[in-house]
Amino acid sequence: MNQFEIEGLRQELDVVSVGFGPAGIALACALEDEAEDNGKKPFARVRFFEKGRDSTWHGAFLLAGTDINHHVFRDLVTPRNPRSRFSFAMYLKEKGRLYKFGLLGRPASRVEWSDYIGWVAAQLKDYVSYDEGVLDVLPVAEKGILRAVDVVTAQGTYRTKRLVLSHGSLPRIPEAFSAHLGGRVFHTSQYLKNIHLGGGPIAQRWLVLGSGQSAGEAVAHLLGAAPTTQVHSVHRGVGFRVGQLGQFPNMAFLPEQVDYFHELEPARRSKVFDEIRSTNYAGIDADESQALYSFLYEGEVSGHQRLNLHTWSDVVSVEKVGDAYSVVLRDSNTGLETTLYVDGIVLGTGYEQLAVPPLLTLLQPWLLRDEDGTLAVDRHYRVGLQHSEGVQILANGTSEKTHGISDAQSFSMVALRAQQLTDALMATQPRQLASVVSHPARSRSIRVEARP
Ligand SMILES: Cc1cc2nc3c(=O)[nH]c(=O)nc-3n(C[C@H](O)[C@H](O)[C@H](O)COP(=O)(O)OP(=O)(O)OC[C@H]3O[C@@H](n4cnc5c(N)ncnc54)[C@H](O)[C@@H]3O)c2cc1C
Repeated sequence: MNQFEIEGLRQELDVVSVGFGPAGIALACALEDEAEDNGKKPFARVRFFEKGRDSTWHGAFLLAGTDINHHVFRDLVTPRNPRSRFSFAMYLKEKGRLYKFGLLGRPASRVEWSDYIGWVAAQLKDYVSYDEGVLDVLPVAEKGILRAVDVVTAQGTYRTKRLVLSHGSLPRIPEAFSAHLGGRVFHTSQYLKNIHLGGGPIAQRWLVLGSGQSAGEAVAHLLGAAPTTQVHSVHRGVGFRVGQLGQFPNMAFLPEQVDYFHELEPARRSKVFDEIRSTNYAGIDADESQALYSFLYEGEVSGHQRLNLHTWSDVVSVEKVGDAYSVVLRDSNTGLETTLYVDGIVLGTGYEQLAVPPLLTLLQPWLLRDEDGTLAVDRHYRVGLQHSEGVQILANGTSEKTHGISDAQSFSMVALRAQQLTDALMATQPRQLASVVSHPARSRSIRVEARP
């Protein structure tokens, strides 16, 4: 019986990842490349727990006719190792589309990108348990010293000293809607599962909240779903804006910008973030803006307006009225109130990362925080811990607040970060301890919770 086997309930694992989306898969690619290079797996017992049934990429919002918004070189591996067998080029080669893709003259579609991700994931199936979401992470402490964590799923409890948070960002749900979630009130992350709820024809009157890419796509999709659907497109500000598409703001996604961002004080980081936010959030593509505006205009021409724009609108209240919903909007400039009656509500309100990921709630006494309360995560993605021995928690795409815009909801850093995570993990092995990654944890992390 080893030191972790208590009551025979738990399995011990060398590395556990929560999530097997692009970030998790990219890490598995790096571990696999490492094993192939050295003829030996760096860790014998590695498990990625994925709550989804497969690795379809944002499957509930995989709409036909949508493209990826990054260069295909920023796939799961190429920036780390262009010779990896898990590249998009290898995928195209194997599918017999390398030349044909070259003639396409547009980015890969989201459907193709999802197929690529699934193609890679299928080759790494031994790393993952699908349909096994992580429900909780519990501390394993002795006399207040954190020595391991227990990762709890519906199927079992797994003890580990190395935990990687690859679970992505959380859907942002405005408070006014949270009590009504379910049925015909849903976030875009549930879109395709919920729009045809109950079968039969699609509901007629919709409200879509938000001004970003997802909201724009939902509006266009609902208008196209049937010739009679009505959509109220509700915005806090002026309506849909075109995202920052120029080269200069998008230099924020260059890998060296992570170093720059990470070095800044928390208050500066949020200023910098605000400046470049619209490169990835709250903006739509120019062609989408053109299409939505045309729809609005043609509605005026025909006198049959199906797209109704509500700008400068705050949501005051939401109520269920029979099978429908009444939503009161208030113009934030004039105070004028409008009541809408709709059959369904789509929250195109994007995603967010909280200061502390909910799964780490019970570990809070051991977590170090930055001045602004966010998790202290060092440049090598190691979450700062106090009163702990031999435990490592790594942020894999969950450190937007400390590493910047390219390190969260973007493919930009996925491949390079996987190498840094692999190095950090391998540095915890006894024979590797001498070569621990070069930079120490940020010394500026000051907020320390009471010792448990
Ligand atoms: C519709 C849409 C389109 C996008 N298009 C682009 C694009 O073109 N280019 C770009 O760079 N970025 C795009 N993004 C941003 C995108 O989120 C990231 O690029 C990428 O998916 C991030 O990968 P990730 O693995 O960090 O997170 P995710 O893709 O969110 O993957 C996280 C995984 O973890 C799983 N998970 C979560 N919680 C748990 C749990 N408790 N237990 C087990 N598993 C869990 C989830 O099921 C998911 O599979 C898009 C996002 C959306 C929503």
